[in-house]
Amino acid sequence: MAQKKFFIETFGCQMNHHDSEKVAGTLVQMGYAPTDDSSEADLLLLNTCNIREKANQKVLSRLGSIQKSYGAKSDAKVGLLGCMAQMEGEKIFAKAPNVDLVVGSSSYSFIPRLINQVEEGMRHVIDVTQDTDRLFEAYAQSRENPYKAYITIMEGCNRYCAFCVVPYTRGPERSRAGSHILSEVRRLASEGYQEVMLLGQTVNSWRDPAGEISSFAGLLREVARINGIHRIRFTSPHPSDFHPEIVEVIETTPTVCNQVHLPVQSGSTPVLQRMKRDYTREEYLRKVALIQSGKREIALSTDIIVGFPGETQEDFEQTLSLLAQVRYDSIFSLKYSPRPGTEAYAFGDTVTEEEQGRRLMVLQEFQRKIQLERNARLVGREFEILVEGRSQRDAKDLMGRTTQNKIINFPGRPELLGNCVQVRVTGFSAHSLQGEIVSH
Ligand code: SAM
Repeated sequence: MAQKKFFIETFGCQMNHHDSEKVAGTLVQMGYAPTDDSSEADLLLLNTCNIREKANQKVLSRLGSIQKSYGAKSDAKVGLLGCMAQMEGEKIFAKAPNVDLVVGSSSYSFIPRLINQVEEGMRHVIDVTQDTDRLFEAYAQSRENPYKAYITIMEGCNRYCAFCVVPYTRGPERSRAGSHILSEVRRLASEGYQEVMLLGQTVNSWRDPAGEISSFAGLLREVARINGIHRIRFTSPHPSDFHPEIVEVIETTPTVCNQVHLPVQSGSTPVLQRMKRDYTREEYLRKVALIQSGKREIALSTDIIVGFPGETQEDFEQTLSLLAQVRYDSIFSLKYSPRPGTEAYAFGDTVTEEEQGRRLMVLQEFQRKIQLERNARLVGREFEILVEGRSQRDAKDLMGRTTQNKIINFPGRPELLGNCVQVRVTGFSAHSLQGEIVSH
């Protein structure tokens, strides 16, 4: 009998992408083969995001026309995984009757049993229990990138920000044992990975359940001791748990990348309070000052939500002034999207869609100018980059990232893929740099 094939499409954050890698690893162990061609898949999985309404709609429209969207075989089994699956639960079968399997983001470790049930012909197989102690410990054998690897160090979130579904979709915070994390990193190093990215919804809230490593900063130090790993990144830290010790580790450990993504969401303290972010603008700026005061220049990026309920023009201007003050290297900015089940869903005083759109444009244009100014100053400087792939701008070129996570496109031979090379910056745009090789 021919080997069964699976295809996964992933929506959303890095956590989701890494979950898909682990699900793929589990399926390979079950005897399935991965395929990039959705039309030949026997099992078609959509790993979904629920952060904003738009993400949900996208998946529903794909499910509405599985044959059209994926050219799927008529007998292909269809599974919905991830945060939307967790939130929608049973309801999804009414909205999309062609779905055979629903697996919430806390139930991945049950996948072998659930897939077996689908194979036995059961319809509407579902597991969305939030078994709170459970971590998805599967080893990802099917990683998307051969040079850099994601590693989950904690799952879930206890913060209950007023806008956010994560505590409901991913359950409460639970950390992976430090010893498990370190043995995974050792294994990755022995397989030739150059870079690891430690992942968690609030990654710096990690606590070693075995009590062997004292803090998140301590974990960074331990990971940095492992030979063969040249770059260590982490995302996303929560500002409230961002302690000086983390900056100290970045300052003193060359393999810990000098880059921090520190989500602020708004520059206005009253908005932050309504969002339940448990820091003020001033407290956040003190953390930024700490990050920016070191000898090693640390790149900063953030997440911003515009048009949160009750956000006035003055609040919005506070966000612009925060951008002017911090001068981030990059930002992710989104219009607020009301999510059922969250505290802010019931808030009145909404900002119109039109006004949200206007503010988002103003914000992005404001930040674009900051990035152009920042990147202009890099022309002539040299950086070490890890060569990751083909340039998206010009397929003849390659692209790599600096330790500060800046993308540099440059002419180079494919043999350089996976290597660290020295490049000089020759040009720039708001989102990337152009360069040439100096030596390698
Ligand atoms: N750990 C992050 C933090 O400290 O907030 C949260 C990660 S969340 C998965 C990614 C980003 O999605 C958030 O930082 C926020 O900017 C955005 N986001 C979450 N809920 C949203 C909503 N309801 N509407 C718009 N953007 C949202």
